[in-house]
Amino acid sequence: VLDRHLVPRLLAGGVGTGAGVGPALAAVKGHQMAKSALELAVLDAELRARGVSLARHLAGASGSGGDPAGRVAAGVAVGIAGTVDALVAEVGRWVAQHYRRVKLKIRPGWDVGPAAAVRAAWPDLLVGVDANGSYGPGVAARAPAGPGAPAAPEGLAAPARLEALEALDALDHLGLSMIEQPLGDDDLVGHAALARRLRTPVCLDEPITSAAVAEAALELGAASVINVKAARVGGYLEAVRVHDVCRARGVPVWCGGMVETGIGRAANLALASLPSFTIPGDLSGSDRWWAADIVTPELGVEADGTIAVPRGPGIGVEVRAGAVDAAATWRRWYRAAAK
Ligand code: MG
Repeated sequence: VLDRHLVPRLLAGGVGTGAGVGPALAAVKGHQMAKSALELAVLDAELRARGVSLARHLAGASGSGGDPAGRVAAGVAVGIAGTVDALVAEVGRWVAQHYRRVKLKIRPGWDVGPAAAVRAAWPDLLVGVDANGSYGPGVAARAPAGPGAPAAPEGLAAPARLEALEALDALDHLGLSMIEQPLGDDDLVGHAALARRLRTPVCLDEPITSAAVAEAALELGAASVINVKAARVGGYLEAVRVHDVCRARGVPVWCGGMVETGIGRAANLALASLPSFTIPGDLSGSDRWWAADIVTPELGVEADGTIAVPRGPGIGVEVRAGAVDAAATWRRWYRAAAK
């Protein structure tokens, strides 16, 4: 998509600023990750030429005003483990590395027990869960639970439906910081019903593909927290607009992660320095996923559970060209069209 559709449009349009990238690519529908990558590359080049950090630039693009935070709290997402003991052991390793928040991936059958075990081991730890939409399809929350509840919708067996709802109700008693994306990606109405039912904040992730969708979700009451991922909304400037939509409604946000290298990770730190990113995000050190990152300096969690927001121009870290060369499978150079 980058090679055939996006880069040619960018070059044909003579785009020289990050702000020009989105409009130049608007005719191509979807492909948010590819658009986000391209926008970040242009933004980085623009800001390096101007000597401005991405954090400073995003703060200026936001209507929130003020200085970007210098440090942001680190959090980590933990996958489905083989056993509850293995999960508790893994969480223990992250806690020992000073992470301030742990997010547990859950799914039907791996939910209440594991989350309760982590809660019991660390009563005061900020613990959230993320179901990745696995309690859909069908809207368990739309109907009241218990005896006398209406029959399950066609195609969804009643026992499974009750189990899902019971699990979500049980999770509601664990003092979790949030339940992320319990239902399907397109089920905003179901999430609104669940948000009315549960005391635990409901967070949306996958459906939030733009600031406009974020606004619709909040209007529906489908979420009281939003996970912002620049790569999911098509770029960091749209991510700032998502932040601003939430900020206008007093809704806190946090920065999600998508297994970025240090390039995206540095940019995520800049995004998370905006004021409504009050919840620790999936912002972990370079060593969360990589034996060696492709940027220098690598990003690390300090003893106070925070990561420094890069201050240098652009994304504020340098790409190790040798590391990219070692991993590259093909390369292509583009020439801007003569004006
Ligand atoms: Mg998620």
